[in-house]
Amino acid sequence: MSEQRDPRGIGMTSARTRERLAQRLAANGIQDPRVLERIRSVPRHLFVDEALETRAYEDSPLPIGQGQTISQPWIVAMMTQALLPPGNGAEPPLEKLLEIGTGCGYQTAVLSPLARRVFTIERIGSLQRQARTRLNELGFGNIRYRHGDGMAGWPGQAPFNGIIVTAAPTEIPPLLLEQLAPAGRLVIPVGPPGQQDLVRVTRGEEGFHSEVLGRVSFVPLLGGTDR
Ligand code: SAH
Repeated sequence: MSEQRDPRGIGMTSARTRERLAQRLAANGIQDPRVLERIRSVPRHLFVDEALETRAYEDSPLPIGQGQTISQPWIVAMMTQALLPPGNGAEPPLEKLLEIGTGCGYQTAVLSPLARRVFTIERIGSLQRQARTRLNELGFGNIRYRHGDGMAGWPGQAPFNGIIVTAAPTEIPPLLLEQLAPAGRLVIPVGPPGQQDLVRVTRGEEGFHSEVLGRVSFVPLLGGTDR
């Protein structure tokens, strides 16, 4: 991110453009006021390459380098809405959220004020460093970063009230289920490329409850790490 880039944005990157995106998402099933507020506030254009910034408020995925993509805004909004316990925006933030697949950090920025502490894991070191720099510059101070394989979760900080995964394994990693707090929710795409379901698992008193929220298309959740 160059220093000249304006966080408020102008023209195609302005608050008006973000407002139009929020209205489009609201017309497409995003009702949670906490989520719509985040879409209005987070300057998505600063999370993509400068050459793509006029496209940042289209509802489409965009490349972020290293063969990875920033998810489409509707997907970010829908997954965030699925992660939060139902509410009207007046409830206190959750205690702890875990994100797997930091990527460019946009989803992390959306989550930041929704919990007291946000933990995020990314397997590609260069993406993680860029995201951390950008999120620090934008003043998001409650985020902890780990360069590692998110399949193992973050046992030292468990349990989490919510876990959101932005890359798809072929099966739900059992360690992530173990790290859910009571009533905690895991939102995760599951399946091979081209056949992924977005699944929400809620930890209830009598065990785990799964729901399929729809068909999605994510990059695969890979093992190990890259620089
Ligand atoms: N939420 C991100 C989405 C990035 S795409 C954004 O808005 O930009 C998914 C990301 O998951 C990629 O950056 C990829 O490197 C990362 N990823 C894939 N497998 C992973 C794993 N096992 N642990 C942590 N991150 C992983």
